[in-house]
Amino acid sequence: AFLPKVGIVGAGLIGRSWAMLFAAAGYRVSLYDSLEGAAEKALELILKQLTSLKEQDLLRGKCQHAEEQHALISAAHSLEDCVTNSVYVQECVPEDLELKRTVWRLIDYFVDDESVVLASSTSCIPSSKFSEDLKHRAQVLVAHPINPPYFVPLVEIVPASWTSPAIVEKARKMQTELGQSPVTLKKEVAGFALNRLQYPVLNECWNMVEQGLLSVEDVDRVVKDGLGPRYAFMGPFETIHLNAEGIRNYCERYGETIWDVSQTLGFVPKISASSSVCDKLEEDIQRKIPIDSLAERRQWRDEKLASLAKLRRSD
Ligand code: NAD
Repeated sequence: AFLPKVGIVGAGLIGRSWAMLFAAAGYRVSLYDSLEGAAEKALELILKQLTSLKEQDLLRGKCQHAEEQHALISAAHSLEDCVTNSVYVQECVPEDLELKRTVWRLIDYFVDDESVVLASSTSCIPSSKFSEDLKHRAQVLVAHPINPPYFVPLVEIVPASWTSPAIVEKARKMQTELGQSPVTLKKEVAGFALNRLQYPVLNECWNMVEQGLLSVEDVDRVVKDGLGPRYAFMGPFETIHLNAEGIRNYCERYGETIWDVSQTLGFVPKISASSSVCDKLEEDIQRKIPIDSLAERRQWRDEKLASLAKLRRSD
């Protein structure tokens, strides 16, 4: 049967994840990297990962064969080879505006159809910064994954003002089909949505340590044992709807308190490596997680996220 093709540009951490997600959904994936041999190396890593996921019963997709999913992914010989005839292209090159501009000019040159979704994985750069002068700019948007995308389903879809609504819809539909959980921002905004929530949390964590209110470990504990579990299955709006007799009742009961507490918030600290707060954070956290054990700890984190993903899927 004819399988639609997806082009992935950049075979690093995120490019490999996208390749696995699209293959799990039955797409043919063409993986391109400008570094000689990198796409072939990525294919080896992907096979190892798929095999290990299968062993742990974590493989995604209907076809439950690691080798068959792997066989859908191939290394592209050139960017042209990767982009041509694709129904969707996901760019995953490093976070550097000049590099994105260069790569997108090339992708634009090879796009052969008005209905191809052209998505960037960028964490922070609005696509208007690199798509304005492109012939196919109406097809370009951001599809921002959260690491590791295989286990964290959110994808932020962020169109530029000139992105076609039909392309936004198609991107959202395809992400849903992959089993990811897309949200659509109506327009570009700094930090998209996730970091607009994450940064205020981080700022307040920093403030509390700076004020000597809690230990570094206890601040992490507030999130991991309080907010984290609470938000693992529902967002803040559903949470407050359940925490009173409905959301209106919650606003009646707690609106004033939230306002009063919030008057004491809002101070935005300058997060900086030269701050004494950073010295303290580093000293404390390294006691638990020495800098030379980060790889091991990341592996542990991914395993935990994998079991959570499994639990959430069965929910
Ligand atoms: P990475 O460094 O792991 O991989 C980037 C790959 O792109 C490398 O293999 C590199 O050889 C390749 N590359 C460089 N120039 C290229 C070019 N001109 N053409 C083709 N390939 C080229 O980076 P990553 O972590 O996978 O990040 C990729 C993108 O995803 C970035 O925009 C990043 O902001 C975004 N992102 C990263 C994360 C994360 O946690 N790592 C999360 C969400 C989004």
